[in-house]
Amino acid sequence: MADVTLEKIVSLSKRRGFIFQSSEIYGGLNGAYDYGPLGVRLKNNIRDMWWKEMTQIHEDIVGLDASILMHPRVWEASGHVANFSDPMVDCKSCKSRFRTDQIDIEAPCPVCGNKNTFTEPRNFNLMFSTHIGAASDASSLIYLRPETAQGIYTEFKNVVASSRVKVPFGIAQVGKAFRNEITTKHFIFRSVEFEQMEMQWFCAPGTDEEWFDYWKAQRFAFYEKIGIRKSHLRWHQHGSDELAFYAKDAYDIQYLFPMGWQELEGVHNRTDYDLKQHQEFSGKDQTYLDPVSNERYLPYVVETSAGLTRNVLMALSDAYEEELLDDGETRTVLHFHPNIAPIMVAVLPLVKKDGIAEAAKELETSLREEFTTFFDVSGAIGRRYRRMDEIGTPYCITVDYQSLEDKSVTLRYRDSMEQVRIKMDEIVSVIKEANKNYKRVEK
Ligand SMILES: [Zn+2]
Repeated sequence: MADVTLEKIVSLSKRRGFIFQSSEIYGGLNGAYDYGPLGVRLKNNIRDMWWKEMTQIHEDIVGLDASILMHPRVWEASGHVANFSDPMVDCKSCKSRFRTDQIDIEAPCPVCGNKNTFTEPRNFNLMFSTHIGAASDASSLIYLRPETAQGIYTEFKNVVASSRVKVPFGIAQVGKAFRNEITTKHFIFRSVEFEQMEMQWFCAPGTDEEWFDYWKAQRFAFYEKIGIRKSHLRWHQHGSDELAFYAKDAYDIQYLFPMGWQELEGVHNRTDYDLKQHQEFSGKDQTYLDPVSNERYLPYVVETSAGLTRNVLMALSDAYEEELLDDGETRTVLHFHPNIAPIMVAVLPLVKKDGIAEAAKELETSLREEFTTFFDVSGAIGRRYRRMDEIGTPYCITVDYQSLEDKSVTLRYRDSMEQVRIKMDEIVSVIKEANKNYKRVEK
């Protein structure tokens, strides 16, 4: 099997409508991407799996959808105004800007090649700013949120007061966040606009370490449910140089992307730092009166923070294979878990004539209530199978002459390419059963 490179993922993403560069007809906008017809389905499926996992499978987690724009004091309390920055240098000759940790500032400029053209390092804040209202002075300055977590902390008291949750409980949120990254790279891995799937677990001080271990195990196990190979996942514990000053412990789940091991999700013990900060900056009490112990305290927070858009890149990279077949040909196939595949079933008439296309269309329509479907009538049947393999469709159903006589069809499995004959009225139950038992064969 040929190596999976990022170039191949980028190329397939564009060719088949998963991901496009933003504003491409104008030359593109660096670090911004559009999710095409298949990409938006893949992303939504991963999001829905996460949402179900957190708010349906686990009790005591409630949802939230906080505003992207927040009061500017939020970002002073969180430390983002003062600290959320990278040291940068500018090249005085070609005006390129670099992170000082990513270049050798003693060497010539990597863009124009001139020597001694760098400015002194300056801190460059990663938050996007804009203005609210008619005035555009310092009083109207606001930011696009650089993370979704703060919206959860600032609603802690409202959620406690309005729902029946009791500590320990969690608040889950999926949403967009924005960072003015100077060096966007690795396709959608590091982009200026991205989506996060975050859950903040509020627990009593002293129970945080136990919950931390619990959530570590839960989050790692999740990736099996969306079909990610275990061999490509690992833990990375933050060393003392990486650990935020308030954090008690922090682990990242890393995935082996085509460009190497990189962070996918963080599980962090944030102590009571966030609520304490908001209590101080807002002047509003953020403590919780525990009805069991009758004690009043600031809850500790265990955070699970995953990148949804990084999950999309992981899903594509993990699924991609150029498989050498017995007949000497190569097929490109995406081994998506059926839980996240953009299209579940393709219905293909063997030929267009003699009422076969009409019968196939009728069958496809009848399956829409259960599955995402696709109808494809053009080209040789082998080519149509390949097109479905390349976008990760787990099942193809072929309607032929025999189907008109006895209501049977051919069901083809994507991974094994095995074909079986089944009755039309068995399709739904056979596919549901196959989905339940789906296991990728690792080669
Ligand atoms: Zn330069």
